[in-house]
Amino acid sequence: LLLPLGAVLAILFAGASIWMLRQRLSPRGELAAAVRQREFVAHYQPIIELSTGRCVGAEALVRWRRPNGQLVRPDLFIPLAEETGLIRAITDQMIGAVIEDLGAALVADPRLHVAINICAEDLSTGRVLGVLEEALAGTGICSNQIWLEATERGFVDIEGTHATLAKARARGHFIAIDDFGTGYSGLRYLQRLPIDALKIDKSFIDVVGTEAPTSHVTEHILALARELHLTVVAEGVERPEQADYLRQSGVQMAQGWLFSRALPADAYLAFCRINRAQYGAPCNVVPFQA
Ligand code: C2E
Ligand code: MG
Ligand code: MG
Ligand code: MG
Repeated sequence: LLLPLGAVLAILFAGASIWMLRQRLSPRGELAAAVRQREFVAHYQPIIELSTGRCVGAEALVRWRRPNGQLVRPDLFIPLAEETGLIRAITDQMIGAVIEDLGAALVADPRLHVAINICAEDLSTGRVLGVLEEALAGTGICSNQIWLEATERGFVDIEGTHATLAKARARGHFIAIDDFGTGYSGLRYLQRLPIDALKIDKSFIDVVGTEAPTSHVTEHILALARELHLTVVAEGVERPEQADYLRQSGVQMAQGWLFSRALPADAYLAFCRINRAQYGAPCNVVPFQA
C-alpha cells in the first residue's frame, strides 16, 4: 500500500511542478508578469504636416522592454494581450507614459497632439475614457491634444463603439480610424460614425504611383474624406515620391520612415526641437478642402 501512495504523491508533485513552471514560462504568464513589473514603454513616431514639413504630433506605439533590454514589437504580444484582457493594463501604462513623457511638451505647445491606439474592448465599453479623464486632470493638457485611434477591426460591438466614440468626441478628443481601407466601412457606415480623421493604411501608400490594382484606393479615400470633411493621415510613407504625391493630392499629415521611425521619448523631443528650429511651431489642422 505504501508504494502506490508514494507513487501517487510523486505524480502529484511532478504535476504541480509542471503546472507551476508552465504558469511561469507560458507566454500568458510572462505577459502578466511584464504587466505587473511595468515593462511597457512608449515610443513616439512623429506626425508631419505635409504642406509645411512641421511635426504636429506623434503616435504612441507600445514596446515591451524585457529585463534583458530586448524590445518586443507590439504585433508579437498585442493579440495575446487582447485575448487575455491584459491589454487594459497595458493601455493604462501607455496613457501614464504619454503624460509623463510628453506632458510638458504638450502643455508648452497646445497645438501638438499625441495619438493613442485603443483596443476593441475599450471601444466597446468606454472604460478608457475614465482612465484618460483621471490621468489628464490637473495636467494642463487639453483633451483635444489626445487623439484616439480605432481600427475597423476593433469595431466588434458597433453600438458600444459608437457610444464610446461619441462620448470621447464630446469630451474633446479627436478620433482617427486606423488602418483605414483594410476593413469594411463603406460611405454609409462612415457617415454615421462620430470621427475626425482617416489614417490610410500603409498597404495603400506602398502602391501609390505603381501599376498595382489598389494603386488608386488612396484617391477614393481622399474623395470620401473630402465628402465627410475628415482629416487624412497617411501611414508608412517611406519614399519622397509618395510624400510629393500625397502633398499634391491634399493629404494633410503623414508618418513614416521617410520622416522618422518611432523614437524613444527623449529622441522624439529632440526631433521636435530640431524640426521646430527648421519649420517653426505647428499650426492648426485645417479641414480637408478640394
Ligand atoms: P499601427 O497603429 O497601424 O501603427 C503603425 C505601425 O507601422 C507601427 O508599427 C509603426 O512603427 C509602423 N510604421 C510606421 N511607419 C512605417 C514605415 O514607413 N514603414 C514600415 N515598414 N512601418 C512603419 P508597430 O509600432 O510595430 O505597431 C504595430 C501595431 O501594433 C500598430 O499598428 C497598432 O495596431 C498596434 N499597437 C501599437 N501600440 C499599441 C498600443 O499601445 N495599444 C494597442 N491596442 N495597439 C498598439
Ligand atoms: Mg495606430
Ligand atoms: Mg495605423
Ligand atoms: Mg497600420
